[in-house]
Amino acid sequence: MSEIRDQVYWMQTIPEPTPEPLVGHVDVDVAVVGAGFTGLSTAYHVKQAEPSTTVAVFDAESVGFGASGRNGGFNMTLFGLTMPVTAVRFGKAKAKEAHLYMERAVDTTRDLIEDLELDCDYEHTGFLRVATSEKYEKRIRHDVKFARDLGLTGIDWLDADELADEVRSPLYRGAWWEPRCGILNPAKLSFAWAGVLRDLGVAIYEGTPITDIRPGDPKAILTTPQGAVTASKVVLATNAYSHLIRPMRFKQAPVWTHIVMTEPLDDRLAEIGWENRQGIEDARDLVHYYRLTADNRLVMGGRDVSIAYGENMDRDLNEATFRSLEKDTIDTFPSLEGVRFTHRWGGPVSVTLDMAPAIGFLGDRQIAYSIGALGHGVSLTHLNGATLADLVLERDTDLTDVFFVDRRIVPFPPEPLRFAVSQAIRGYLRAEDRLYDPKP
Ligand SMILES: Cc1cc2nc3c(=O)[nH]c(=O)nc-3n(C[C@H](O)[C@H](O)[C@H](O)COP(=O)(O)OP(=O)(O)OC[C@H]3O[C@@H](n4cnc5c(N)ncnc54)[C@H](O)[C@@H]3O)c2cc1C
Repeated sequence: MSEIRDQVYWMQTIPEPTPEPLVGHVDVDVAVVGAGFTGLSTAYHVKQAEPSTTVAVFDAESVGFGASGRNGGFNMTLFGLTMPVTAVRFGKAKAKEAHLYMERAVDTTRDLIEDLELDCDYEHTGFLRVATSEKYEKRIRHDVKFARDLGLTGIDWLDADELADEVRSPLYRGAWWEPRCGILNPAKLSFAWAGVLRDLGVAIYEGTPITDIRPGDPKAILTTPQGAVTASKVVLATNAYSHLIRPMRFKQAPVWTHIVMTEPLDDRLAEIGWENRQGIEDARDLVHYYRLTADNRLVMGGRDVSIAYGENMDRDLNEATFRSLEKDTIDTFPSLEGVRFTHRWGGPVSVTLDMAPAIGFLGDRQIAYSIGALGHGVSLTHLNGATLADLVLERDTDLTDVFFVDRRIVPFPPEPLRFAVSQAIRGYLRAEDRLYDPKP
């Protein structure tokens, strides 16, 4: 944990964790494996719905150790790759359903932060998806029209002049504008969630990997290095680490995205504008995502991804991608030439073979899982927590009706094929990005 804390700026803004692992046996109604946003939100929604339910959360490392403590902090509506891609995979009606779920996810996240006073530097900034080449302009204009044709609102096209009034870059040709979205500090949000849960009586065991899970009647049995857990229901909120749990092995694979961060920009921002501090992505397949922090550092992430073979989870750092991201920062905002980059980090996201989220059960509905949020899970995981809570409490609601609950998952092949397939997909995405914008 201390190594990752040394890298991730957000983690340096919260107190250092002091894990108290489980020693001995604990019996609960609901055991949640993973203390990221999925697990934390699930535990919260279970307690909200049925306060007498006993709930414990287990994390191999600590609260927010995974993607939840390291992400870009965009509270945004993207589901899967893009809306048209979702429509190709699932049909237009489900693409619309997915977007409405994501709008609800963004609003839910924001409302929870506000209502529970979760201290996470939340800013209601809106979101820009900027066009950085002629082909990307066409793609974004098409996507805005596609959303409108589905009857969706809340997404507009800003032309180059309107965009320049907001943020100035020589690369920009216009943007998708979505005021619903916001930005936050994800490690602070994870930390705040843990406080809320402890107040609700939820036990959180950090430093406690679940090493084995066996379904059972009436209770499932979970094994930890120094103890055991019995639980009526189990939620696997293990995201990109899920394939390490045997029955989940082929359902998803981890993919790493990387981030660099500058020193505070202060008056260097004047030339860029950006007074309204929107979260920004471009329209590449392997997107860039960037934003400002509360103390006006620029966070720049994306551009390329790392993949790993088998069970290897050691891909947080990628020198080549970090260097490219630093160059991309200056290409986007030339006035930042000479700026000091102070932080570099990365983290794993969960990818399904069809690049869309999935919620489901293993076996006889005792063990639920949620995977495939890709690099866009901040809002999704918060609402998925409510959905998972309904599922484990055996309530049929509009959330449990959503099409990606209990959907069929296209499995990854075993290694070495999984690695080859992942490389091929990444190769295709890189090639398409080059085609859309040949600039280096
Ligand atoms: C660098 C980066 C940038 C991103 N940027 C954005 C963004 O700007 N906006 C956005 O919407 N999304 C973003 N994402 C994606 C988003 O962070 C994730 O989708 C989301 O945080 C996933 O939350 P989670 O709770 O499902 O998983 P995680 O936060 O990954 O939590 C899983 C937890 O499970 C624990 N665990 C795993 N196995 C076990 C086990 N066997 N026993 C016990 N514990 C276990 C891990 O230690 C981990 O803490 C980004 C991700 C990364 C890595």
